Amino acid sequence: MDLIGAIARCFLAPGSRALTTEYGYYFFRTATHLAGATLDLAPEHGLTVNTQAILGHLTPETRVVFLANPANPTGTFIEPAQIVALRDAIPRDILLVVDEAYSEFAATSETRLFDLVRRGDTVVLRTFSKAYGLAGLRVGWGLFPQAIGTEVRKLLLPNNISAPALAAATAAMRDQAGMRAAVAMISRRRDFFASRMRAAGLQVPVSHTNFVLLCFASDEAAVQADATLRASGFALRRLDNYGLLNCLRATVGTEDDMEEVAQILELFLSVSH
Ligand SMILES: *Cc1c(COP(=O)(O)O)cnc(C)c1O
Repeated sequence: MDLIGAIARCFLAPGSRALTTEYGYYFFRTATHLAGATLDLAPEHGLTVNTQAILGHLTPETRVVFLANPANPTGTFIEPAQIVALRDAIPRDILLVVDEAYSEFAATSETRLFDLVRRGDTVVLRTFSKAYGLAGLRVGWGLFPQAIGTEVRKLLLPNNISAPALAAATAAMRDQAGMRAAVAMISRRRDFFASRMRAAGLQVPVSHTNFVLLCFASDEAAVQADATLRASGFALRRLDNYGLLNCLRATVGTEDDMEEVAQILELFLSVSH
């Protein structure tokens, strides 16, 4: 988030515009607005990023295109080759920021966008908050073209990452096997939960993250399901700020928790909806 904010402060100002997609990560909006600029939203198709729509929504004032892949809060993923084609089609003086916070969960994470950075017009962001489980330590990183990295770095506090956070991130990065085992376990639990929720009647896009988007038949059903779950101590994420009033986002938890949430929702859907 710190890097997104610094990129926005570096490239945006009142009068300029950034572009993301309809359900693009909310902090892209916040960071753009904090920089005094305007954010445009390109429509998605089936809760998935549509690169043609992004091209159609560029303006002469657009300075930055923000894209999260896999996406949050939808969990959907587009082929990195589509992002390479998008980069080829966007004017070179517009910065493309690809936020890969959930990259480790993506089915084809071998396909890397880091090569785009060498072109000088693209930044790729990663984090220790998701697959590495270190969200509370506030540590992430980005691969920047040299000239852009130098300018963005000036806008960050020089000591913005604490020594304990750096030590933990270093140890986490060295334990690739541990990270991959966690990702495999979470992904299995996620897919099992998602298929049960589809069988129970919810619309659930295929997720490439550590959460599942649950779409109910109506806004009221989502509100009631949320209240029912909260009464049992489970807080799912409401997505009103994205305009997804009929959806809840469930982060994958322990096996026991997922079982309990699945049973509560199966009962809820069988009796009243
Ligand atoms: C969680 C998340 C972030 C924020 O990551 P931090 O490193 O915790 O600041 C950024 N982008 C996306 C898409 C995320 O889901």
